[in-house]
Amino acid sequence: MSRPFKTKGIYITAGINRCAYHCRYCQLTTIKLSKNITMDRFTAIVNRFIEYKHLNQLQDFRVDFWNGYTYDSSLIDFQKELNLHKKVGDWELKILLLGGLLHMEDIILHQWFTERKHIGSEFVAATYLGCKDQHDYWNNKKGNFEFLIKAQKIASNVGLDNVQRLLLTRSSLNHMEELLDTLDSLEIPIKERSAYPFFYSGLARRYEDERVTLSLLENQSKRIQTIYRNDKEKWKSEQEWIEYAHTVSSQSEERSVNLIITDENIDRIESMSCEAILDDLTHRTKRAYAMVPSQEELAEKYADNTSEKIYMFLWDMECLWLDRYLKEHPLQNFERALTHFGR
Ligand code: SF4
Repeated sequence: MSRPFKTKGIYITAGINRCAYHCRYCQLTTIKLSKNITMDRFTAIVNRFIEYKHLNQLQDFRVDFWNGYTYDSSLIDFQKELNLHKKVGDWELKILLLGGLLHMEDIILHQWFTERKHIGSEFVAATYLGCKDQHDYWNNKKGNFEFLIKAQKIASNVGLDNVQRLLLTRSSLNHMEELLDTLDSLEIPIKERSAYPFFYSGLARRYEDERVTLSLLENQSKRIQTIYRNDKEKWKSEQEWIEYAHTVSSQSEERSVNLIITDENIDRIESMSCEAILDDLTHRTKRAYAMVPSQEELAEKYADNTSEKIYMFLWDMECLWLDRYLKEHPLQNFERALTHFGR
């Protein structure tokens, strides 16, 4: 039944930056917005773990962080966030996500981009689900499609690169040509345009009827097929994941522990040593993994071997299998958020 767990690092999260939207498919629902956690308090905790890693010469120990849904923070806080990314050396450093940003007037948005470019941002990323009204419906925000289009143009004028992410669902595929026409008509340089399905996480778990199949993807026009994300060859149907789950080893879960900082626990975390935090999280994570079936057992008993729906990663496939297991076997005190099933 159990899954042995080994700590490979720490992933520190807190809901500091707020999101102005309520997307119907939001895949980031595990982080709750905080009232009392400032960027300084958050930064201090991340810095302690960076120092812990260096002092103990733990070259392979990862320290990662995520401080909220958007980049809608003050410029001073954004600078602190960038500095932290520089220290950690991760890819988030240069990206500005447009999702979740308050809709702003052009002149304010121009200034917002300019200031952030000045301190190190290099590109913006917009996510589209369908075109025009369909996008606004899914993003639950009237005028959001227009705002993203406008924001990408302004970003380009400011000298930021543009990334476009297009979500592949059954209904968005019906409007994909129209979306591509609209995006192409912007006539701005695009650093990257890629399309991919929902992760099985957060609120998107409610929309399995929107999940695409391989045959549906392969029946699209050449123009649409060329924008599928470049790891598409690794996406698999549920049928294929079952077989894969039996062939890859699941002897032990080697992952970072999740330190989720909240208004309720931040005082306690600040008073604990790094070792004590890691011991506590490792113990609780081991206990959580010990409560759920192995990868093979989930694949054996809780997978649907008739399903041709596509999932991008084994972890999101496993999340669906675990949901089915939990329906039959509800667990008390299962700290799902500490495991990779917690997304
Ligand atoms: S913008 Fe992103 S974080 Fe905000 S509700 Fe939408 S998907 Fe969720």
